[in-house]
Amino acid sequence: MQNQTEDIIIEICNHCGNDVSIGSGKFVNRVPDFNDIITRIDNNLDFPLGDFVCEECDNNSMTDNE
Ligand SMILES: [Zn+2]
Repeated sequence: MQNQTEDIIIEICNHCGNDVSIGSGKFVNRVPDFNDIITRIDNNLDFPLGDFVCEECDNNSMTDNE
């Protein structure tokens, strides 16, 4: 059995799709998202493959009721 794709870390924000890798300027304040892709799709995220939330979207998700 091969490992599943869970080992691959995709360094984008799963809300806005922005790059959060080293050098992007968003690396320091990025927040890891520990949900799996299925959960993210259920949550209607625009970029469910992303393993992180950028600081901007993290702030929005705490205050935005939508
Ligand atoms: Zn974002």
